[in-house]
Amino acid sequence: MTVTQDNWLELENTLDSGVYNKHNVVMSRAEGATVWDTEGRAYIDCVAGYGVANVGHSNPDVVKAVQEQAAQLMVMPQTVPNDKRAQFLRDLVDVLPGDLNRVFLCNSGTEAMEAAKKFAITATGRSKFVSMKRGFSGRTLGALAFTWEPKYREPFGAAVDNEHVTFVTYGNIEELRAAITEETAAVIMEPVQGEGGVRPADPEFIRAAREFTREKGALLILDEIQTGFCRTGKMFASEHSGVVPDGMTLAKGMAGGVPIGAFAMSEDVANKMPKGGHGTTFGGNPLSMAAGIAAIGFMRRERLWEQAAEKGAYFMEKLRAIQSPKIREVRGLGLMIGVELKEKSAPYITALEHDEGVLTLQATPLVVRFLPPLTISKAQIDEVVAAFERVLTNVNPREERLAQLKEDKQSE
Ligand SMILES: *Cc1c(COP(=O)(O)O)cnc(C)c1O
Repeated sequence: MTVTQDNWLELENTLDSGVYNKHNVVMSRAEGATVWDTEGRAYIDCVAGYGVANVGHSNPDVVKAVQEQAAQLMVMPQTVPNDKRAQFLRDLVDVLPGDLNRVFLCNSGTEAMEAAKKFAITATGRSKFVSMKRGFSGRTLGALAFTWEPKYREPFGAAVDNEHVTFVTYGNIEELRAAITEETAAVIMEPVQGEGGVRPADPEFIRAAREFTREKGALLILDEIQTGFCRTGKMFASEHSGVVPDGMTLAKGMAGGVPIGAFAMSEDVANKMPKGGHGTTFGGNPLSMAAGIAAIGFMRRERLWEQAAEKGAYFMEKLRAIQSPKIREVRGLGLMIGVELKEKSAPYITALEHDEGVLTLQATPLVVRFLPPLTISKAQIDEVVAAFERVLTNVNPREERLAQLKEDKQSE
């Protein structure tokens, strides 16, 4: 074990913008579902870069593709055709449902949402949207308008114009019906809400959205940024409801860890955007395209969606078997799993990292979220569940707070 003499932690904490609540550890390497810090300690990773490393960290196919492409060609604007881009587009369209066969390429989830917004406006000639309470669509100003949680929007005041967005209760079919009008450009929703607490939609709700948008001439756009690429036990979560949307936003797991984003749409939606109406410098760059080809190739060869379905069911069954009065509900789809506690989840997430070497993430203050690489082994899942059970027993923030209060009082 090598103990580093470098001050990485201090450097990040003093030089970074300060917008992130940083952990107290420096990570430097990962493989599969294991991450190592600079001191050589191993962690089981149930974060996967926020649901990015679906094919496993440093997936050998992706590594090879990136290494070869880096030596060959890294940048070529989208006005100039490129062999890897053409191949990636074909491979992506091959796995996309229905008639989603036109793709705008970009570099992140929020950019995919921005593209969706612009294409929906030009396709319909309308500019009002329906989004979901508890929904999350990204952090740039246009996408932020679709994001429900006020704390993400409020610091920016009037610059986040969301007068054009109506929020409806996720799952409430009547509310949804009433919100969609002849002025609605699109309804935007996640098939499983991620940041909003890991909440799978009732397939009926998604089917209703499909029907109502068709009736009113609006588009249905599914945000599959977190749910896509095998995460929920299907290549895309929309397959659980059988709904083919008019547009789908994609990012996170699409290129095995390399930054990428895309808005996939039908021919009709793409056709209405004027030439030059949208664009991006880095989108569709050969490096991310090569990574994407390798990642999607791996998913298909390994039938990764089946692995996610099977391991997800196993994981949830084991979580449900934990006898703890602190658990309110275990829910999820595939390997997108949330455990809602009856109290704040943060102390348990911290203890999992510090005491157990298991990385998890929060989704709303009460939920512990598990988004492991889909290549995680059952033995690793067993370890994670055993660790979770231990912290639920050993960590008692309420009692610790009370004990502290008592101590403070005595020392007064
Ligand atoms: C992560 C996420 C986004 C934003 O993606 P970024 O790449 O962080 O910009 C948007 N929608 C959903 C559902 C997400 O999970």
